[in-house]
Amino acid sequence: MIIAANLKTNLTRKNSRKYIEEVESFLEKSGVLQEVLVFPAISSIDLHAGRVTLGAQNAYPVINGAFTGEIGVEQLEEFNIKTILIGHSERRHILGETQEQLIEKFNFYKNMGFKIIYCVGEPLEVRESGHDKMMEYISKQYEGIDTDYQNLIIAYEPVWAIGTGLTPTLEDIVAIHKELQEKSLAPLLYGGSVKVTNAKDVLALDGVDGILVGSAALYAEHFCTMIEYAQMIEDNS
Ligand code: PEP
Repeated sequence: MIIAANLKTNLTRKNSRKYIEEVESFLEKSGVLQEVLVFPAISSIDLHAGRVTLGAQNAYPVINGAFTGEIGVEQLEEFNIKTILIGHSERRHILGETQEQLIEKFNFYKNMGFKIIYCVGEPLEVRESGHDKMMEYISKQYEGIDTDYQNLIIAYEPVWAIGTGLTPTLEDIVAIHKELQEKSLAPLLYGGSVKVTNAKDVLALDGVDGILVGSAALYAEHFCTMIEYAQMIEDNS
């Protein structure tokens, strides 16, 4: 399974390093075999060798150039970063990234051979407008995206569940994942208020290939517990 931590705009460089070391030490001691991804703030990115793969929460679709405030491939390659999050709801809804911009970013980083974690998910008002409208909305987020890209992971993250403590029912997650699996064979993660208390249930669901965790992953110990659950579930399946 794939267990990913999105640290967002949290933790200093020093604390991020400590965090990653804690996760590495856990992985070494526990012998867990799951794929572990961590997305620190860009200023905390560093060269890293180990079981944890570090990824970028965002980058501009360029090698380098005049794009004030952005980073490109040149800055990522300096730290061997070859993994990127694209389409996170905070970038879509707070930073205003459009589907067109996301397609451009996706195609650029696909051509650069990056592992892409592409996020999709509906806001509350869309969910409340009924199943068909919701699926129509999510389908639009797949438009222009190469769903056959071999280095693609998709994360279904309902916007209303991110950082709110709310989650869809387990039955809803299974049902939506089933529909989304018809759109792409890429591994499909669930994200949105996953924490130690519900991670085991979510990870055990049919059609869930892993989790993308924000707030609850900010404590390395909690993140490691969730990684351990994934291993237990895989061992028992
Ligand atoms: C996220 O931002 O990707 C996320 C899943 O956040 P949280 O776990 O805090 O809901």
